[in-house]
Amino acid sequence: MEQAYDHTVNGIITGTGHGTLRDGPGWRSIVYFKGCNFTCLWCGSPDTWSTGPEIMFFPDRVKYAARLAASCPAGALNLQSSGGLILDRGPCRACPSHDCVRTCVDGSMELSGYPATVGGIINEILPCQRAHAHYGVTLSGGEATLQWDFYLELLKACRAHGLHTAVETNGSHPRLAQSFPLLDLVICDLKHMDNAAHIKWTGQGNAAVLENIRAAAAAPHTDLRVRIPLVPGINDVKNIDHTIAFLAPMKNNLEVEILGYHKMGVYKWKALGRECSLNQLPALNSGALQKIQDKMKRAGLCVISS
Ligand code: SF4
Repeated sequence: MEQAYDHTVNGIITGTGHGTLRDGPGWRSIVYFKGCNFTCLWCGSPDTWSTGPEIMFFPDRVKYAARLAASCPAGALNLQSSGGLILDRGPCRACPSHDCVRTCVDGSMELSGYPATVGGIINEILPCQRAHAHYGVTLSGGEATLQWDFYLELLKACRAHGLHTAVETNGSHPRLAQSFPLLDLVICDLKHMDNAAHIKWTGQGNAAVLENIRAAAAAPHTDLRVRIPLVPGINDVKNIDHTIAFLAPMKNNLEVEILGYHKMGVYKWKALGRECSLNQLPALNSGALQKIQDKMKRAGLCVISS
């Protein structure tokens, strides 16, 4: 065992996934932390933004409207004369029991977020590790670093069990570099090089992000993958030139991954009762993505696809 850890440290997550080949090298598990300090308008997981459990309501799945309405002690589920249901999120937010989810049988009510301990997560991962010679874990989200103690303790636990460790981060945490000794790979988003545009589209500035990318590039035992979510009309033209100028002088084993904007998370915005203002934006076509990948390769960057 490389490092002791406290298996009782706890936090809130939206889920775990096991036996995937995504988000890091080789076979791995992914832990999705809840809570994020960014509010990117193209976010595919808006249910991870808030730090507490959140109700997701899918009206088109409702089969037993009257029964569902009756399950809510706060009167937040209102039966319409049309037979449909409306969720009033005012009284709903104060409900600790979530009776609607517990009694729901048609999949129309889901609760995003549940408490988890370091020990509980490790117990899920270890059987998967036994099936693979080299196994890894990626801490994702939401923004994993916001639950700092939980994040660090889970990394220590992964190290103690000989797991490859990675984080997918928005790069904003001021102490991110303190966790590099526990990380084999940092996958850091770089959403916009211009600070004002970064604030406009994500709700936060980019100074800490740029600083953390520089620090990760200089970290001796941690690999760095910079991930760019490419959104048409927002960060796909001049911003790419500025991104290349920023990244090209960095170390050779820096990887760059470009993720084309997609609309797969739009249904979650609706289920949370939120308006997705980029709803009308078309998904990025593969030709545009290829052109930008080629441009980055010509600048000497190692561009990967996943
Ligand atoms: S979470 Fe509570 S208040 Fe909200 S709809 Fe469900 S039972 Fe009602």
